Amino acid sequence: MIGLGIESTAHTFSCAVIEKKGKSGKILSDIRKIYRPPEGEGIHPREASRHHIENSSTVLSDCLKESKITIKDLDLVSYAGGPGLGPCLRVGAVVARSLASYYKIPIYPVNHAIGHIELGKLLTGAKNPLVLLVSGGHTMLLAFLNKQWRVFGETLDITLGQLLDQFGRSLGFASPCGKNIEQLAQTSSKYTPLPYSVKGNDVSFSGLLSATKSIVSKSKADACFSLQETAFAMISEAVERALSFTGKKELMIVGGVAANKRLSEMLKDVCKRHGARFFVVPLKFAGDCGSQIAWTGILESQVKKGVLLQNTFVTQSWRLDSVKIDY
Ligand code: AMP
Ligand code: MG
Repeated sequence: MIGLGIESTAHTFSCAVIEKKGKSGKILSDIRKIYRPPEGEGIHPREASRHHIENSSTVLSDCLKESKITIKDLDLVSYAGGPGLGPCLRVGAVVARSLASYYKIPIYPVNHAIGHIELGKLLTGAKNPLVLLVSGGHTMLLAFLNKQWRVFGETLDITLGQLLDQFGRSLGFASPCGKNIEQLAQTSSKYTPLPYSVKGNDVSFSGLLSATKSIVSKSKADACFSLQETAFAMISEAVERALSFTGKKELMIVGGVAANKRLSEMLKDVCKRHGARFFVVPLKFAGDCGSQIAWTGILESQVKKGVLLQNTFVTQSWRLDSVKIDY
């Protein structure tokens, strides 16, 4: 079975082809173009969607070329139906709908967050993990129970990715800036105390963002170091409590922030204390990509015959804990 997946929820337009053989999936191609806003600015949805429109045909044809298949070889096409930015989501949905209607291929809208998790499971081999999803759009702790992902904790305001990106932009970096902050943080070891806010299993980052901005004039590197140490310690506390509560023996981190080495280091320590195995999605597939959508579409196709074209919506605020999973 061969599936094409199209991702366009925010900054990335990506197409990927995956072939499923038995239980495993082989990524035949994964091509991406990332919209970069001007330095110091965030994503403008209209500009990002313009970027996606301009790049969509090249990304699609490069993806097919690299996978060495033609559109006629596809058994299904899936697209990220949400959550995400409306104008961006619509670009991926239009491309998917055009292919599905012209070539008569079954079409599947996929929840972007579930895409992160399913690809993470495929690539790491985690079976029944507690999942930490940390990206531009999500900060959530999740466990699977009775056919649905259940939320054990989440951010009460901005996400971990937004915290890093908004702080990075105030330093003049272009979004996404998690990597710039990580690099600056590696040059310091001087911790300045910052607000630490864990409420039950939830976290809150907005006070931490303001406070970090107020210490930056002394040293950018110390501010980045202190920001990472505080935010990641908050996340680690929530993870530790969720591991205790759920008794899970695996932890898997997915989402763009999973690329951060210091976050992995702290979470590995937590796992060691709890006798849990630690899995992190490979760097190349941590951020948004078509493979997440292609693989989840293939899994969906095992239990569903596709969606009628008139029902191929996009939903900006599609929560993953509302999705019933039957495969
Ligand atoms: P996603 O929405 O899954 O594509 O993830 C994008 C987010 O990941 C952005 O907020 C980035 O700043 C963040 N990110 C990417 N690389 C790193 C890194 N090395 N450390 C921390 N955050 C990162
Ligand atoms: Mg994402």
